[in-house]
Amino acid sequence: MQHDNLKARVVATYGRRLDLCFADGSEATGRVKGRRLQPVCGDYVLAERLPNEPEWLITEIVERRNELGRPNRQGKVDILASNIDLVVVVTAELPAPDWFIVDRYLCAAELMRAAGAIVFNKTDLGEATPAILDAMDIYREAGYPTLYCSAVSSSGMDDLCALIAERTAVVVGQSGVGKSTLINALFGDDSLTTAPVSRKRQEGRHTTVNSKMRTLESGGHVIDSPGVRDYAPAITAAEEVAQTFPEIRDAAPACRFANCRHLQEPGCEVVAAVATGTIAARRYESYRRLYRLSLDFQRKTQ
Ligand code: GDP
Ligand code: ZN
Repeated sequence: MQHDNLKARVVATYGRRLDLCFADGSEATGRVKGRRLQPVCGDYVLAERLPNEPEWLITEIVERRNELGRPNRQGKVDILASNIDLVVVVTAELPAPDWFIVDRYLCAAELMRAAGAIVFNKTDLGEATPAILDAMDIYREAGYPTLYCSAVSSSGMDDLCALIAERTAVVVGQSGVGKSTLINALFGDDSLTTAPVSRKRQEGRHTTVNSKMRTLESGGHVIDSPGVRDYAPAITAAEEVAQTFPEIRDAAPACRFANCRHLQEPGCEVVAAVATGTIAARRYESYRRLYRLSLDFQRKTQ
């Protein structure tokens, strides 16, 4: 059977080799043509069947809707995944939530035009405390879906599946909140770190999975890798940070100055909304911190 330049999605990467999934659900292995192309999990690519070879040749990456990037030691950005619709930020009673970290993930999600959601995991250990409920309510009021679940008892897991629905999601959050356990529970197994059988057969045991995308029965996808799980986004666009807080974004048009940074400007409706409690003081503090962080980042990289 001859296929020319079929569109496929990258579902796992192993250095220059990768696994592809075609529109009809069939899978195949591929390799990249030349050095220029660097496909990541989540990419849509054009692939060509090689005569007399089981592998496909990746000839082109379809333009990415967005990228999950992580700064590396060389001051460049490693792309970990692409075409992400949803960033699921996981929290739990233990380790104690650092809500600034949650805000930073949500900010990064907004910057890449992905939806954000907050999951409170480990409800089997006890009901969420009033402080947790308050913090979660602030997100719900800002427009983010908030879910309560337990990867251990499976309570709330249907809601998580429904949230992901048909989208491509990544699961992020502090270490120890239960991201791996949640993903395993979603897929009902522990194959996360195991290479697909086809790869084992072809390449022996020396392949490490860089990242992997798995598909739920409902059709949703989850991209996971140690890098994605530990991903700490760098917020690099100071002037865009206000746009990534829905409640600040809503109040900002009423500020006296169109270029208001919502710090000390007179006639700032954001600061006024914080004073009346319409905007949560804690979220506003996160905004200020992220704004400062992004300015620092810009100064360093100039
Ligand atoms: P990650 O670092 O976010 O990937 O967290 P892990 O999935 O490795 O989980 C960290 C610890 O939390 C492990 O000991 C898990 O068994 C535990 N854990 C994860 N989910 C739950 C849960 O829903 N309930 C309880 N009680 N423990 C959980
Ligand atoms: Zn303002």
